[in-house]
Amino acid sequence: MNAPRNRPPRGRFRARPDRHPPWCDRGRCTVKPDGIGAHISASTVLPPNEYDMVTVTVHLNQGVPLEGFPRTGTVSVGIELEVPA
Ligand SMILES: [Zn+2]
Repeated sequence: MNAPRNRPPRGRFRARPDRHPPWCDRGRCTVKPDGIGAHISASTVLPPNEYDMVTVTVHLNQGVPLEGFPRTGTVSVGIELEVPA
């Protein structure tokens, strides 16, 4: 019996753990030897200035691309805002 059409075959969901994008910070990367996880870049911090007291922290994130799901594995930008109380 075949798997349902909307499900890709099992065992084809993993990233190659030996390949990282050049921006990946290996200390923050969560891709494990089994290929599950996400690549994460180092954070860049934009400090507050005289006009704006908000601290902005930015990093890149890329989850494991899933074969058969073209919208997975895209790079996203994580943004954290720190506003003084
Ligand atoms: Zn990585």
